[in-house]
Amino acid sequence: MDLRFTPEEIAFREEVRTFIKENLPADIHHRMKLGHSPRKEDTVRWQRILAAKGWAGLSWPKEHGGTGWSAIQKMIFLEENQAAPAPELSSFNITMIGPVLIQFGTEAQKKRFLPRALTIEDWWCQGFSEPGAGSDLASLKTAAKREGDQYIVNGQKIWTSTAHVADWCFLLVRTDANARKRQEGISFLLLDMKTPGITVRPIISIDGSHHLNEVFFDNVTVPVENLVHQENRGWDVAKFLLGNERTGIARLGKSRERMDASLDMARKVNQNGRPLVEDADFRRRVAQIQVDMKALEITQYRVLSKHDKAGGEGKPDPLSSVLKVKGTELLQATTELAIDVSGPMATPIWAQELEAMNQPDDLLEGSSAGVGSYLFLRASTIYGGTNEIQKNILTKAVLGL
Ligand SMILES: Cc1cc2nc3c(=O)[nH]c(=O)nc-3n(C[C@H](O)[C@H](O)[C@H](O)COP(=O)(O)OP(=O)(O)OC[C@H]3O[C@@H](n4cnc5c(N)ncnc54)[C@H](O)[C@@H]3O)c2cc1C
Repeated sequence: MDLRFTPEEIAFREEVRTFIKENLPADIHHRMKLGHSPRKEDTVRWQRILAAKGWAGLSWPKEHGGTGWSAIQKMIFLEENQAAPAPELSSFNITMIGPVLIQFGTEAQKKRFLPRALTIEDWWCQGFSEPGAGSDLASLKTAAKREGDQYIVNGQKIWTSTAHVADWCFLLVRTDANARKRQEGISFLLLDMKTPGITVRPIISIDGSHHLNEVFFDNVTVPVENLVHQENRGWDVAKFLLGNERTGIARLGKSRERMDASLDMARKVNQNGRPLVEDADFRRRVAQIQVDMKALEITQYRVLSKHDKAGGEGKPDPLSSVLKVKGTELLQATTELAIDVSGPMATPIWAQELEAMNQPDDLLEGSSAGVGSYLFLRASTIYGGTNEIQKNILTKAVLGL
């Protein structure tokens, strides 16, 4: 199997890198280099710049404003965007609801929601998980009862990322409690977050940020026109969406960016009177992570090239579970490395003080070292399907056990 990039792919990577360099606003780039998560307005601003270039609809067909890129091109774009570092495209808008509406939506739903999702006129969130329904999603209980031309929704969701700033939510609800199989009684609704009866309660995560929420529904009405696909067939939609969610989940560009930041810092800090980068134990640790990153990169391109050769058709490759497991392990390893290299300078207090003192960027960039992303990414082995569940998939589908 030939794993080399074609000349066109090499030229494409160069084009993407140059565009990002020339167009990513300096203030956003600066915040990202300090290891901060992008703010909502950063993501919106950057996604609109990409949309104007025709690069926001990553896996959307051209007729809906998408890029029409091959899987390899998409991966090149994601890697360059993460490594820049630039805010990532809104996954709820671009990877989830967009492809879902393109596949299952009515013409009216496509017309109304797709252009607004592309430019984040609407910020979407994902209302799937509930207390007691995470890995076992089919046991969800939030109920929607049809009354005339609307559904009345009652129940609770949890871990709903960015619900507090979202305009719309795509929601899995139970519409038939007596279905033969639990999966057969579920529907997929589009919910305007301004509808009366919705309460959003924050969950503050270990990094101190407000990203997660509980969402409560008390007789919330949803017009029947906002049902996607058919009533009680929402599981088909959810499966399709979760398959898409795993594409690009390895986030190798982000790991690479954290590795580069660690090496930069290790050239500046001393260990036993010598730059840390010359320390044998440090070099061994770096080498092991880099070997793992290379192996993951090759696996990723193998999966994608197989997908492209099949004309982009077919079910998600079970090997994409390897990408999730190894990708998230590497995200954790590289963010941990950055923190270890920075030592006490990784503490947020140190970073704030340096910022207040207007210290030169090189020190500040090393010092903050992304303590926020280090802490937040502890969750990466949980969200998007936990790594234990991915290993179950691999055991069955790849090892045949
Ligand atoms: C940061 C973050 C953001 C999130 N954002 C969203 C969001 O926007 N929208 C949304 O709907 N959800 C979101 N989630 C929820 C996420 O999808 C769930 O946390 C995840 O599916 C796991 O479900 P759970 O938390 O209920 O854990 P459980 O399913 O209760 O699992 C608990 C533990 O048991 C293990 N386990 C469970 N079943 C098995 C099994 N069969 N075999 C082996 N081990 C098993 C799990 O791996 C885990 O370690 C988010 C979660 C996090 C952490």
